[in-house]
Amino acid sequence: MKCIILIAAPAAGKGTISKYIEDKYNYKHISTGDLLRKEIKNNTEIGKEIKSILDKGSLVGDDIIKEVFGKEFNKTKSNIILDGIPRTLAQAKMLDELDEENDNVEISKVIHIDIDKEIAVERIENRIICENCGSVFNKKLVKDLKCTKCGDNLISRNDDNKETFLDRYDTFLKETKPLLDYYGDKVITIYNNSTLEDIFKNVDELLKGDE
Ligand SMILES: [Zn+2]
Repeated sequence: MKCIILIAAPAAGKGTISKYIEDKYNYKHISTGDLLRKEIKNNTEIGKEIKSILDKGSLVGDDIIKEVFGKEFNKTKSNIILDGIPRTLAQAKMLDELDEENDNVEISKVIHIDIDKEIAVERIENRIICENCGSVFNKKLVKDLKCTKCGDNLISRNDDNKETFLDRYDTFLKETKPLLDYYGDKVITIYNNSTLEDIFKNVDELLKGDE
């Protein structure tokens, strides 16, 4: 099984691009955020622990991430694309350990999605998402506030504002971007300053043969 890691600045289009790879190339999307939410929803022992950490406003530590993510990683039977992990060097090393223990999965590519900061801010301020299917739209480009895929309402997320973005961007530069050096030759950079068609064309070029 192949494993693609996505490393993307906030608002660089990670969601859209991973959805494209998931649908067209049949990769399974594994998001640490989703996994943590699932544990909370199922009210598991670890889910209770996660909830109490998040309720305090703290970040979930790597030991918990390893347990929750490792379970999913080890049982995968298809190609996977990782979203939200690794976020730090410590998590990248943890992922290497899991990868070594698991002959079944190979980290095949690291896709770095880059974007100009100014363009990212502009997008954040105009971003609306579908309440139902999660599709992302630009406020300036839609006629009414309805999803063109499923017809449900489009809303702005609370955390889609400039201050939160700049905060996240700094964290990305400090903690996540150094991973590009860590992965070295495996990294392929795609610039998300142009149209989606161009970006998808780049992705197709990268994943030729994976269909
Ligand atoms: Zn929708």
